[in-house]
Amino acid sequence: MIRDPTAGISNSGRRMKPTRREMLLASLGLFITGAAGATGCTQTSTTLTRRPGTPWPGSISKPTPNPPGSRAYTAPRPVQPRPPVAATTGPPGLRPRSWWTRTGPIRSKVNPMKGINRITVHHEGHTPVWFTDEQSTKARLEQVRNIHTRDRRWGDIGYHYIIDRAGRVIEGRPLAYQGAHVSKQNPHNVGVMLLGNFEKQSPSQAQLTAMQSTIRHLMAKYRVPVKRVYTHRELGPTVCPGRNLQPRVASLRTNGALA
Ligand SMILES: [Zn+2]
Repeated sequence: MIRDPTAGISNSGRRMKPTRREMLLASLGLFITGAAGATGCTQTSTTLTRRPGTPWPGSISKPTPNPPGSRAYTAPRPVQPRPPVAATTGPPGLRPRSWWTRTGPIRSKVNPMKGINRITVHHEGHTPVWFTDEQSTKARLEQVRNIHTRDRRWGDIGYHYIIDRAGRVIEGRPLAYQGAHVSKQNPHNVGVMLLGNFEKQSPSQAQLTAMQSTIRHLMAKYRVPVKRVYTHRELGPTVCPGRNLQPRVASLRTNGALA
């Protein structure tokens, strides 16, 4: 039995009518959650690496530059413009993180990814999701990020990519960092999460199409073989990604769709 840490998350009123207290808490950005570690999709943990703190301003003495005209003066080099980031750097149609949040990861609580060699598919696993509008997706991602950072004290939302019911592919935790989505198996592992609870509903066709193109992109870019594409339940004791998504991932691996 997995406890639902997002009890109280609104679902655009389709399935759950929040109580006045929940609405009040939601307006304050507060959500009642289960105990730390009791999660919707995950039984995850993340390891932390202590990093040196940022030095106080002034604690580092900078050499005084030589003024123009002195013997050691050299003209500053012109700043080279950075090439634009190609659209092919992410899965097709990727919405960058800035699409839904201006808050970055807590750098002291995330570890560098240092290479990718597998992919794991999840569902969100909380209340079913039927909305398809952008604002509801953005709000939901912010709620998930809050739960992961505030209640579980992780450095950021746990997943690298999130796919909403409309099939939008959205950047979560930057790929430069390990995710927090499979207990003890986060190194080198890309977390792809589909919004919804696929124990209780089925993924939309748009989600399945986007999931396939996202996995294909990641496999090609990082040379991940199909045998290294997992679902969460294949790596740990959980129902994630749900009985209605698990067979869809399994068939993707065998029907040539990822070849
Ligand atoms: Zn999961």
